[in-house]
Amino acid sequence: MSVTYRITHCQHSLHHTTPHLGCICFSSSSAHGLSDEQREFQKVAFDFAANEMAPHMAEWDEKEMFPIETMRKAAQLGFGGIYVQPDVGGSGLSRLDTSVIFEALSTGCVSTTAYISIHNMCAWMIDTFGNTEQREKFCPDLCSMEKFASYCLTEPGSGSDAASLLTTAQLKGDHYILNGSKAFISGGGDTDVYVVMCRTGGKGPKGISCLVVEKETPGLSFGKKEKKVGWNSQPTRAVIFEDCAVPVTNRLGEEGQGFGIAMKGLNGGRINIASCSLGAAHACVQLARDHLLVRKQFGETLSNNQFLQFKLAEMATKLVASRLLVREAATALQESRSDAVSLCSMAKLFVTDECFNICNQALQMHGGYGYLKDYAVQQFVRDIRVHQILEGTNEVMRMIISRNLLTES
Ligand SMILES: Cc1cc2nc3c(=O)[nH]c(=O)nc-3n(C[C@H](O)[C@H](O)[C@H](O)COP(=O)(O)OP(=O)(O)OC[C@H]3O[C@@H](n4cnc5c(N)ncnc54)[C@H](O)[C@@H]3O)c2cc1C
Repeated sequence: MSVTYRITHCQHSLHHTTPHLGCICFSSSSAHGLSDEQREFQKVAFDFAANEMAPHMAEWDEKEMFPIETMRKAAQLGFGGIYVQPDVGGSGLSRLDTSVIFEALSTGCVSTTAYISIHNMCAWMIDTFGNTEQREKFCPDLCSMEKFASYCLTEPGSGSDAASLLTTAQLKGDHYILNGSKAFISGGGDTDVYVVMCRTGGKGPKGISCLVVEKETPGLSFGKKEKKVGWNSQPTRAVIFEDCAVPVTNRLGEEGQGFGIAMKGLNGGRINIASCSLGAAHACVQLARDHLLVRKQFGETLSNNQFLQFKLAEMATKLVASRLLVREAATALQESRSDAVSLCSMAKLFVTDECFNICNQALQMHGGYGYLKDYAVQQFVRDIRVHQILEGTNEVMRMIISRNLLTES
């Protein structure tokens, strides 16, 4: 039996295959300020979300399915390497274009879109910091999603303090011998290419290098699949290295550049994750609106209640403000502006917090129905909670923003 969401309360008992994102004017506000071309691929992404993702998001969540074929279909539209250069199979689009696409896709399934965003980040890292051979070897298969990628920074003992990582890579002849383990790796075990930050030198960020480890490498293994609150359409596992021999030719950049490469990847990653939160909030405002219009209490629809009207207005306002901040950060990163790192952190902090609150409020507006797994709103809440934690916690975002403020001249 397929698992799908009801769009309204049980009086109607109507099963609907999607969270029902109609094309009311609220949706179109996400297109304001975009070029005709951007509106075109935004529409393609919304359609893909509605037709290929939303009908399955509940089932992928419940059965913990990693939807490889759906992601390959997304890659056929150019979503496997959105900001990777075209000569190696990428779409060559901007960070703003990317944000527009991830917001739209997330309305159909946050968890799957968030994995696609991590995959895109890895592909961009190889495209940007790899040499010609590395770009030609890895990027085409990543852009088509024939192969899938994972980003490996976090370790059991180093999360927020990422530069204290302990996984070692010892040079022996023309190979590095890796030993150590990575924790919480998205896609881990099911993906083919691991972009791994490891220690080739002394303590601190300058001793870190970045290696691309292929799945079939002897000495590479994986922990059990983690049981999670959300993000269930993508596996999360520990990645373990035991005398894992990786060719020196798989090193991105020079020895000691790995931490910088990891952080540059994350600047874009933070915009992408914030964009996934936007998509969830976008969907939830619409779900809340639809629910208020049909649910009757005290002899009238909830939409006639001014308290709830004001709440809905605040949710929509915060969504639009969040979107503006994400798009400003995306533009700053695209233009390599000096405030880009701060803006990416601000966008991640503000937008993942605000959008979580929007989704949570939408759940509240559904009353008891919002707490039932029959309704999509609870999955959006569960799926975006983790955006406040990963790709640098929101406390770490505050550290980055304040550090930049206090040190700028
Ligand atoms: C579902 C999921 C998927 C993930 N995917 C990936 C992945 O693909 N690749 C990857 O590398 N990592 C991944 N992560 C790991 C994620 O990035 C880390 O969980 C995150 O960076 C936080 O690290 P930690 O869990 O060790 O928490 P800790 O660093 O132990 O922090 C615990 C709490 O203390 C706070 N804290 C810590 N230090 C300070 C401080 N100085 N000031 C104030 N507050 C502080 C933190 O903000 C947090 O609230 C994933 C995590 C999850 C849950």
